[in-house]
Amino acid sequence: MKIQYFGTAAYEGVPALFCGCDVCRRSAAAGGRNLRTRQQALVDGVLLFDFNADTVCHAQKYAVDFSKIGDCLITHSHCDHLYPDDAEIAAHGYSYGHLPLHFYAAKDGYEKLRPFTDKMGGGAGVTLVESGRQFFAAGGKYRVLPLPADHDAASSPVVYAVEGGGKRMLYAHDTGVFPEETFSGLQKFGRLDFISFDCTGCLGESGDWRRGHMSLKTVKEVFAKLCALGVADEFTVKAVSHFSHNGGQTYDEMRASAEAEGYIVAYDGLEIAF
Ligand SMILES: [Zn+2]
Ligand SMILES: [Zn+2]
Ligand SMILES: [Zn+2]
Repeated sequence: MKIQYFGTAAYEGVPALFCGCDVCRRSAAAGGRNLRTRQQALVDGVLLFDFNADTVCHAQKYAVDFSKIGDCLITHSHCDHLYPDDAEIAAHGYSYGHLPLHFYAAKDGYEKLRPFTDKMGGGAGVTLVESGRQFFAAGGKYRVLPLPADHDAASSPVVYAVEGGGKRMLYAHDTGVFPEETFSGLQKFGRLDFISFDCTGCLGESGDWRRGHMSLKTVKEVFAKLCALGVADEFTVKAVSHFSHNGGQTYDEMRASAEAEGYIVAYDGLEIAF
């Protein structure tokens, strides 16, 4: 499998729109990997994670063939992960010659998408997903298991475990330290080859980052527990993403510490094969 990160920031972006804080000023001055759009990623060129308002910009920036993308997993309904109004760009009249776009979303995201997919036609749709109930996506190519995330309950948050081509990965944005049900669900799902962890709090010096989102400190706790349960091990590739200026570090400032602990710090455009 291969994952490509299109965006790696939390809601406000890095630098955050309107912000004059020191982290944003340092990020803007450093440029390059220190500049982040909102979190979105693509697996194997066909399976999209989340659909935010930066999607048009991502498609153009990375020259991605979105006509081949027919499946999109929505982690939750916050607008930095789901901007349903832009789903209608897949309707005839706005776009042509592409696969029908099919979304998978838990309750709140499902309800936000349904009015748009209903009027799109051409095979577009949205499937209501439930924590703990697995399904198959992209014509059966991927086995997908949604599990509960510790995040704003009103946004129907889930993390996704995905299996394809004999490999397994976990996409865990946005979430705090995993609920017990998620640890046990992952144990049943199988050993993970790759994990993308929420790291909104960067190195974790600005708070405890246990509920709602994580930092590198809490990510390490979760990973240690996954190893103890036999779900991950020293060969599991680990990345951190979904950064906020509220965490306190730029890409350049957190890279060395994270890499020393064995974590890849994601940046916009990064591709990881596993
Ligand atoms: Zn988010
Ligand atoms: Zn800022
Ligand atoms: Zn969120």
